[in-house]
Amino acid sequence: MSAVDLHTHSTASDGSLSPAALVQLAARSGLAAIALTDHDTLAGLAEAEEAGRLVDLEVIRGCELAARIKDREIHILGLLLPAQTKNLSKSFDQLMLWRMERNMGILERLTALNKPINPDEFENFYGSSPLGRPHIAEIMLRKGYVANLREAFINYLGERGSAYVPKKTFSPAEIISVLKKDHGLTVLAHPYLLGLSFQELQRLLLELKDMGLDGLEAWHSEHPPYIAQSYVALAAKLGLSVSGGSDFHGLIKPDVALGRVKGGGQVSDKVLVALKKRVAEQFA
Ligand code: AMP
Ligand code: ZN
Ligand code: FE
Ligand code: FE
Repeated sequence: MSAVDLHTHSTASDGSLSPAALVQLAARSGLAAIALTDHDTLAGLAEAEEAGRLVDLEVIRGCELAARIKDREIHILGLLLPAQTKNLSKSFDQLMLWRMERNMGILERLTALNKPINPDEFENFYGSSPLGRPHIAEIMLRKGYVANLREAFINYLGERGSAYVPKKTFSPAEIISVLKKDHGLTVLAHPYLLGLSFQELQRLLLELKDMGLDGLEAWHSEHPPYIAQSYVALAAKLGLSVSGGSDFHGLIKPDVALGRVKGGGQVSDKVLVALKKRVAEQFA
């Protein structure tokens, strides 16, 4: 079997490897293809695609977007995106504004808590990527405000943290519609992490399917193998496709290996073939 990884992050969002280094690692790991799915940006794709040509590895254009539904945040992957995605670019601009507003809110709270981070220092450190809590956590670690990234989230940045500010974002309907307008495939990312019962997940999937959702991520670095199997069956029952990937972030999530899902398994390239068929049928 040839293996693929359809969920990865680079330095274009909050991963620790550059897009080229990520692609080179994927080639060394024997993968046939990866989807680069950075949060709220396609900025890493040109570099990844160029690196892919050099090492003969297929790079799927993708991204990951957070949507709010009834106080819950769900993540939607856009996959197999074409070269031109005008609608998506406009959405990214709005998301960047919301992110910056929120980041400034978090920095103000941290300052009030005697853990100051200068906004310029924050932005200069990372350049133009969509910055968020993982980047703030890293600076807190560098400044010695916390002993590790986990502590930054538990005490300050997580939903129960003292510097938490909720993020403004789109609804699932808005995100799915913009990805569809740009002829991409839409996949619910890591559904197991939502902590829903099987029934609740099924209801959510039906709701999202009405909005145009194409599939769900069955295999993931945090989905036990028996859960992945149950998601494959659920997808078949609901007429949805399945996808799979590690959600690799490099050093930020050191336990997650590129190309591997929970239990050490891999995602077959047949999954990618089926996704390509679905997108071709929709936008023929
Ligand atoms: P943001 O987009 O700014 O809300 O940041 C979301 C990202 O923060 C997620 O993609 C995770 O990588 C990371 N994250 C969220 N919660 C935690 C946590 N408890 N520990 C470590 N990283 C987290
Ligand atoms: Zn991430
Ligand atoms: Fe996610
Ligand atoms: Fe992700």
